[in-house]
Formats: sequence, C-alpha cells, structure tokens
Amino acid sequence: MKIFCIGRNYAEHARELNNEVPDEPVIFMKPETAVVRKKQPFFYPSFSSNIHYELELVLRIGKVGKHIEHRFAHRYIDSVTVGIDFTARDLQADLKSKGLPWERAKAFDGSALVGEFVPYSQFIPGDPLHFHLELNGVEVQRGNSAQMIYSFAEIIAEISTFSTLKKGDLIFTGTPSGVGPIQIGDELVGYLNDSESFRHGVK
Ligand code: MN
Repeated sequence: MKIFCIGRNYAEHARELNNEVPDEPVIFMKPETAVVRKKQPFFYPSFSSNIHYELELVLRIGKVGKHIEHRFAHRYIDSVTVGIDFTARDLQADLKSKGLPWERAKAFDGSALVGEFVPYSQFIPGDPLHFHLELNGVEVQRGNSAQMIYSFAEIIAEISTFSTLKKGDLIFTGTPSGVGPIQIGDELVGYLNDSESFRHGVK
C-alpha cells in the first residue's frame, strides 16, 4: 500500500503558508508505516517542537489503474474518509529553505491518521463533501471538496500518469486553511459531512 498526498490544493491554505498557488498538483508520499492505528493515540515525536494538524479528505483506491482518464477516475475511488497529514512544520521550513525533500517532516511514523472509511457510492455524485476538525472541542478547520484547486478526478488522473494506482492505496487530497500546532494532551476529532470519523488523543 502506498500513500500519495497533495500539497497546496486549497488557495487559502497556500496563502497562509506564503506558498504560491501551484500550476500543477504538488505531490508527495508517505510510507505505510505512517498510518496511525485505530484506537491508538498520536505520539508527539521527539525530533520536532512544532507538529501541525492538516485535516484532509482521504480517498481509498478500489482497483488497479494506470493512465486513468479523467472522466473514468471516479470509478477508481472505493471509499472516502477524513484524515490528518501531520507535519513537522519546523523541519519542513528548514528543508524547504534548503530545497531538500520533505520526508523527515511528512513521512514519520504516525504522520498519516485516517478515519472510518465510507463507501464512495453512498455520496451523491457532484455534491461537495464537507469536513471539519475540532481541537479540544473547538472547531479549527472546515472545508469542502468544491474548494479544491484539483478535483478528485484530476488528482487520480495526474498521479496515474506516472505511478500505477493499486487497490488499497490512499490519497490525501490537501488541507484547507486553519492549520495549526498541537500539544501533548490535546484531543482531535474529525468529521465528514458532520458525522464523527475519528477521535484521537495526543500523547
Ligand atoms: Mn497536507
């Protein structure tokens, strides 16, 4: 299983981090070991002092595909959830300034939290998916799929031009504005269309 992630897919979030809105999708990866197991807390890593949450819609791929056409791309989505692309912002800022890859900041154990998957067939085609994050009971991020610069179909088509997508692969589709730091003792609750999708503590 592999995990693709899209960066800067919401214009407001790109602006809040002083990044340019990209003219093609920004794509990076996390390894399978990044996934937080169900019922497990997120363990704050010792190598960073500025871990940020980034709540994102996450797609699970249902079948193998290469060079997937945009108009057929939705057929490759098995299910959807929300997840957190945890980011060591201090390390990322340092790596970005040196023009180096982001793995130390993005691919560490626990950096990919995923909620309960919902079959894609349960959503009405064309209706935006709404999602939000509560940190200690306070809403800190809210977005919907209509705000994405690159749609699910465009992302799947683009990734599959250079990498074969397989059943079980995950795609984190980018975060809206409102990212911020977490502390040990925090509780994060993610919602997809107002249904609770995950609840994790920070230890
Ligand atoms: Mn992200």
